[in-house]
Amino acid sequence: MLSDEQLERNFADIAPPLTNDAALLEANQCLFCHDAPCTIACPTHIDVPAFIKKIASGNRRGSARVILDANPFGHSCARACPVEVLCEGACVLNDRDDKPIKIALLQRHATDYVLEKKLKLFEPGAPTGKRVAIVGAGPAGLSCARDLRVMGHAVTVFESRAQPGGLNTYGIAEYKLKADVALAEVQDILDLGVELQTGVTVESIDTLLTQYDAVFVGVGLGRTKQLGIPGDDLRGVIDALSFIEHLKTHPYRETGVGKHVVVIGAGNTAIDAVTQAKRLGAATATIVYRRGEADMPCYHYEYELAKRDGCGFRFNAAPQRIIANGSGAVRGIEVRTSSGNETIPCDMVIVAIGQGERGLVVPRHDPRVFTGGDCANGGAEIVNAAAEGVAAAKRIHERLTNG
Ligand SMILES: Cc1cc2nc3c(=O)[nH]c(=O)nc-3n(C[C@H](O)[C@H](O)[C@H](O)COP(=O)(O)OP(=O)(O)OC[C@H]3O[C@@H](n4cnc5c(N)ncnc54)[C@H](O)[C@@H]3O)c2cc1C
Ligand code: SF4
Repeated sequence: MLSDEQLERNFADIAPPLTNDAALLEANQCLFCHDAPCTIACPTHIDVPAFIKKIASGNRRGSARVILDANPFGHSCARACPVEVLCEGACVLNDRDDKPIKIALLQRHATDYVLEKKLKLFEPGAPTGKRVAIVGAGPAGLSCARDLRVMGHAVTVFESRAQPGGLNTYGIAEYKLKADVALAEVQDILDLGVELQTGVTVESIDTLLTQYDAVFVGVGLGRTKQLGIPGDDLRGVIDALSFIEHLKTHPYRETGVGKHVVVIGAGNTAIDAVTQAKRLGAATATIVYRRGEADMPCYHYEYELAKRDGCGFRFNAAPQRIIANGSGAVRGIEVRTSSGNETIPCDMVIVAIGQGERGLVVPRHDPRVFTGGDCANGGAEIVNAAAEGVAAAKRIHERLTNG
């Protein structure tokens, strides 16, 4: 077992914040492009040159206002956005064989300031007398809630879990976003007068429609899909979301990890699981994937991170069954390879083969019902959920004020 100090180091921010001097220096490298490809590449279309210019002139509050205006989850996006394929990937400096501007770290520099100083940048609008129900307190639902409150509508958010924030609180890798930061960001939105009912699972949208003028559904995706091979219920087999959730909601040493861990799957969640198993102290943590390296659905930079963490990879190895020891716990996984079946010894198997859909029936043709986030886009990023929540708030507002 690793020491507490080592565990703290292993789960420290992977991209630590910029100092004030470093932020000023970085902001002054920006070319402030007129057609800003970074802004176009950002799903919430944050005016990146405008917020960077404000940092360059020492106005962190004004900078945060530009960011949060466009994206209510600007704090968590600054830590968790896949910027290599979004804003920073579009930066024109890439074409000059230079490094892109550190947009995410600058965004964090501005938004951290607002969180630390507890500055209130938004106010509820004058009451309209209209009531909106939101199902799910993740980035999609709460982005929608924030803008509806600013427009003056009464908002009630229903959330199954004990805490709001959705996967920001329960799922994002610990070294990117910690639950307390996620909850502080959410609190800012709730402080606008959003009513939050936690521990409430909505079972019927039709019932909500009898009490509210509109309903936004942002319920995300469901649990991890089942492996469906013999032995997938043995002791030592766990789904990736449960593993990560436990890690994020308990002191690090309370999350059990095997000595030899196998993670099945090769998407971003699988990478998060394998790196976090390694950082918890597993001697080996290995991705087992039935296809080849080039077929991995994870982002390239996530793959690089797992390699840097010392994780292993077994490609073209299709899981056949999980094998028990004499006491019913995992002792290995049998995989089919091009040269026949093989047993990989392990004492923990983490299943990360994607999430299923939620069972909630959504009356999609009812003009009072709106959807957004993972449940509508099939699973994307926080920034997409925020963009869709904001877009839905606009459409709901138009309906409530024109209809
Ligand atoms: C392991 C993992 C790692 C990820 N890492 C990143 C990352 O690094 N960067 C990034 O940008 N994105 C990442 N994502 C994706 C990102 O977390 C999601 O795209 C985003 O959280 C979607 O927001 P959402 O509001 O649609 O859904 P969610 O965050 O899933 O929130 C939905 C909420 O609805 C609640 N709910 C569901 N059903 C009901 C009901 N019937 N009644 C009441 N409440 C209900 C749920 O409890 C949940 O709180 C990751 C996802 C996973 C699974
Ligand atoms: S929200 Fe994400 S994609 Fe958009 S500018 Fe910020 S870091 Fe880039």
